[in-house]
Amino acid sequence: MRFRDLKRQYEALKQRLDEEIQSVIEEGEFIAGAKVGELESKLAEYVGAKHCITCASGTDAIRLSLMAFKIGCGDAVFVPDFTFFATAEMPAALGAVPVFVDVLPDTYNIDPQKIEESILKVKKEGRLRPRAVIPVDLFGQCADYGAIGEIAEKYGLTVIEDAAQSFGGKIGEKRACSFGNIAAASFFPSKPLGCYGDGGAVFTDDEKIAALIRSYAVHGMGANKYDNERIGLNSRLDTLQAAVLLAKFDAFKEYELEKVNEAAAWYTEMLSGTVKTPSIKREHYSSWAQYTIRTENKEQREALRKALKEKGIPSMVYYPKGLHRQRAFEGLPLYGAFPVTDHLCETVLSLPIHPYMERNDVEEVAETIKECLKMPN
Ligand SMILES: *Cc1c(COP(=O)(O)O)cnc(C)c1O
Repeated sequence: MRFRDLKRQYEALKQRLDEEIQSVIEEGEFIAGAKVGELESKLAEYVGAKHCITCASGTDAIRLSLMAFKIGCGDAVFVPDFTFFATAEMPAALGAVPVFVDVLPDTYNIDPQKIEESILKVKKEGRLRPRAVIPVDLFGQCADYGAIGEIAEKYGLTVIEDAAQSFGGKIGEKRACSFGNIAAASFFPSKPLGCYGDGGAVFTDDEKIAALIRSYAVHGMGANKYDNERIGLNSRLDTLQAAVLLAKFDAFKEYELEKVNEAAAWYTEMLSGTVKTPSIKREHYSSWAQYTIRTENKEQREALRKALKEKGIPSMVYYPKGLHRQRAFEGLPLYGAFPVTDHLCETVLSLPIHPYMERNDVEEVAETIKECLKMPN
């Protein structure tokens, strides 16, 4: 069994993918071009944002967003402690200080109340300027943008949605990548919508910010590539990746998102009462980047991992370490405690999930888990 079965997806979409890739090679336009523009308009329309600017990765999408809002030295950027490294790495790379905030015990997304507590501590200390918050839509479920928006407004913070895991997710009818002032998406192969390499995109309704990002992504270009107005990056989505995304996007909209939700529902039906299954808030619709269960303790999780492995079932620990415990952030000031993150790091376990999973695949995983937990280990 595969954790995210890109091979089955390729088999299903082979004809369309091969045609799209072949046409890029035949046309010989490998950077930018019509396909990239076509993809950007389709993605913007789907998420309900005015502008989509594709770039080289989700990490760069976060970086470009911070650059466009001029976030850097002396700024505090609030990020969840329980996330992938890049969320905090990019503010730090630009000279800002990532301020880690603990997460909610049910959704594992950033805790709005604790954002406010951290802001107040930072302000009281008076060394850093609270400038931005980067909520992460963890495992595919959007963060609580209602509560976060109120706090951001109260303290004048820019909201950068880290939507690397949530493309396709929704709150009510509003799609992931449309929350906050700007959103960063990733098309890394195993994300909900993935290409065959690295890729990312920024979404915003702000025309000025969109223009700045287009410039920063191509060496700070002005009127043309050889007119450089600012220091930027080389961060473009290449045409082959755009072609792959165009081929996959139709399937994503037509059935993949629905199918992955069906697989998640099977898991929840089979595992409820055995382990802690994911809790999806009312009105929220997840894109299921991960299906993550929680065990009673670390020993139980390790026993489960072992039992699954013996049956050839892959599982992953997202994440084994809170950001405040990462060596790279050693010595940073902390403005809160992280009991929820610390507990999650010992007890979470992500199971195989993707749109091409059949009910009997899910059954096999669920049965292995149930059997393992029945036996004293
Ligand atoms: C994957 C991921 C990123 C980075 O995306 P890349 O395309 O791999 O650079 C950023 N934040 C989160 C939460 C992610 O899961």
